[in-house]
Amino acid sequence: EVRVRIAPSPTGNCHVGTARNALYNYLFAKKNNGKFILRIDDTDMKRNSKESEEGIFEGLRWLGINWDEGPDVGGPYGPYRQSERLDIYDKYIQKLIDEGYAYYCFCSEEELEEERKRQIEQKLPPKYSGRCRNLTKEEIEDKLNKGLKPVVRFKVPNKIITFNDAVRGELKWDGNLMGDFVIRKSDGVPTYNFATAIDDYLMNISHVLRSQEHIPNTFCQVLILESLSAKIPQYVHFPLLLNEDRSKISKRDGALYIGEYRDMGYLKEAVLNFIVLLGWNPKDGQEFLNIDEMIDKFSLDNINNSNVVFDFKKLEWYNGHYIRRKSVEELYELILPFIEGQDYFKKTEEDYKKLKRIIEVEQERLKRLDEAKDAFRMFYESPREYSLDFIIESIKKIDKDEIIRLLDESIKHLEKIQNWDKVYLEQEMRRLCEEINTKTKILFMLLRIAVTGSKVSPPLFDVFEIIGKEETLYRLQKCKK
Ligand code: ATP
Ligand code: MG
Repeated sequence: EVRVRIAPSPTGNCHVGTARNALYNYLFAKKNNGKFILRIDDTDMKRNSKESEEGIFEGLRWLGINWDEGPDVGGPYGPYRQSERLDIYDKYIQKLIDEGYAYYCFCSEEELEEERKRQIEQKLPPKYSGRCRNLTKEEIEDKLNKGLKPVVRFKVPNKIITFNDAVRGELKWDGNLMGDFVIRKSDGVPTYNFATAIDDYLMNISHVLRSQEHIPNTFCQVLILESLSAKIPQYVHFPLLLNEDRSKISKRDGALYIGEYRDMGYLKEAVLNFIVLLGWNPKDGQEFLNIDEMIDKFSLDNINNSNVVFDFKKLEWYNGHYIRRKSVEELYELILPFIEGQDYFKKTEEDYKKLKRIIEVEQERLKRLDEAKDAFRMFYESPREYSLDFIIESIKKIDKDEIIRLLDESIKHLEKIQNWDKVYLEQEMRRLCEEINTKTKILFMLLRIAVTGSKVSPPLFDVFEIIGKEETLYRLQKCKK
């Protein structure tokens, strides 16, 4: 049976790396009728927080990446928070000590530091000497009775450690280069590698799918699993995510957390489509994939081996695509939270109705939902930052007198129009151009700037229709001043 897991630490929020890895695990489980497990790696008590855990749940749920077993939903292999499994780890620590795979180490920080210094002086790679390996039972009893708090170390065997990685093939590391590593700290908390290996074993994890930064840890985990005669899972390490300057993506670069994507107005479909391609591609090169297509096409042979550069422009491009595919109703529901808090939005029935009309005309242009906050303002209030000077500057082909003349003619004509419908308005204004001897291109640009305050806007007569006759005329009058 396929059983896969992610094991995020609740220090931070739903990291985009976590989301990408979660998605791959989820797809792999779905594809193979397996189970996807969420385990919380909260052994670092100082850095953990409940809000972070909630943030991880929320981020994954928002994307629709649901887990079959986890701290909130339970399951047959619980508990699913490592902090609630300390007695389990203790039991296995004891077993490894009893069987000679691990031992107490009483070396102090100072002693270890001195050892490291000596090794560096002798140009040796620093590594724990294994000094406490051979303590006698009596020596250990004696130190424990004195109240010394030991760590527990794993006895690294003198051999080449190997494991198979589905992406990178057979990987090897010389055990001789690796010091006996700590599996339980002096405060009684197991280390990351130990807790991970034990949980993967006890939770019957068949495949471990995670980022490549974990490859060095994998050697330690394989050793622990071997000492328990446990079946070694299939390891699959995904490429790293890099910034454009090829550094590892990090908090400094912003937009690291899934919640931030949501707040910036990315659609979950776009985020999913974007992250699924961060390290994997379907064989047929299909660019737009919904979740069912992802499940259908996902396979481990198509995981990339080289690192992936994170390209926000591409995410935006996907987002525009998915925004255009929404119905107006759906988009309305999605955009509402971004608009309702804006000062210009008065929450009247009128304002809500207007919003729907605005969405109809803006849908084509929107790349992110949060752009709506500023882009929709001009439908609700007269533009603030424009003047006749701006118009003069923008339309170089005509002078100020001509601008005033065209504005006056337009106002005069529009005042007479009763049927305030965009098709009719356009027809009328085209006719006016002939009458008053100007080009539509010039008049329409002039009206656009005068009414919207900008050289780019949604179709002009849609704007006229939405803001209404009174407001249109008001803006045309106002900009002459
Ligand atoms: P820290 O500096 O605290 O380690 P971080 O940005 O590396 O911060 P983590 O909490 O360590 O964040 O990572 C969360 C998850 O995302 C882990 O599963 C990790 O393997 C993965 N991850 C983090 N950075 C990358 C990256 N650049 N590429 C791929 N996966 C990553
Ligand atoms: Mg990290």
